[in-house]
Amino acid sequence: MDGKEVLWSKIVSDVSTCTRCVLHRYRTKPVPGEGPIDSRLLFIGEAPGQKEDEEGRPFVGPAGKLFVELLEVRGIRRSEVFITNVVRCRPPNNREPNDDEVLACSNYTLSIIKLVSPRILVTLGNHAGKFIFGLAGIKWVGVSRMRGRWFKVDLLGLKDVYLFPTYHPATALYNPNIKSVLDSDFNAIKELYISLTKNLIGRKASTLLDFIVGDRHQHEI
Ligand code: SF4
Repeated sequence: MDGKEVLWSKIVSDVSTCTRCVLHRYRTKPVPGEGPIDSRLLFIGEAPGQKEDEEGRPFVGPAGKLFVELLEVRGIRRSEVFITNVVRCRPPNNREPNDDEVLACSNYTLSIIKLVSPRILVTLGNHAGKFIFGLAGIKWVGVSRMRGRWFKVDLLGLKDVYLFPTYHPATALYNPNIKSVLDSDFNAIKELYISLTKNLIGRKASTLLDFIVGDRHQHEI
């Protein structure tokens, strides 16, 4: 086991016994996250649902199926991206997590971001967006106004992380109009991800996007 694997095992172990917030009372299995710990693409969603709680895995319910479809029709395998949430235990009756719970779970969220050290970090929905953009010092004004734009930031000591907010796939399950928005946003994610995985872009090198957009806002590109 290398150092990263040891750290990941420690996170999984800590989550499995965690009682930092009230959500531990409702979980069947905690859902720390899954994926390659050196992935260039990290997705952060909201909270486990019923199926995730049963299996201890993220994005395996109906919203997860849509999420995987959004990836795989674009040639990105689920197994090559890292997926986690801002809380790791299922809220009762699938209610939204509150700010205190997101904060209580944030030590794991931060540890996972630092461990995976992604080039692209995609937030799914308002809870993930609000927390991660807050970390980056960018005012969060709601997913419908923030989504579909790239923000290049330094985050937790990581240089030049591309932040991209979009809707949570669950939103498209009850509002079909959101599916086309997600399609558009996942096209944008794929475009940059493919560039990165082809090694066209290094962390310190000027990026194609930098070249194309030139001097724009310090954060938004
Ligand atoms: Fe711990 Fe996070 Fe579960 Fe709360 S949601 S009990 S902080 S692992």
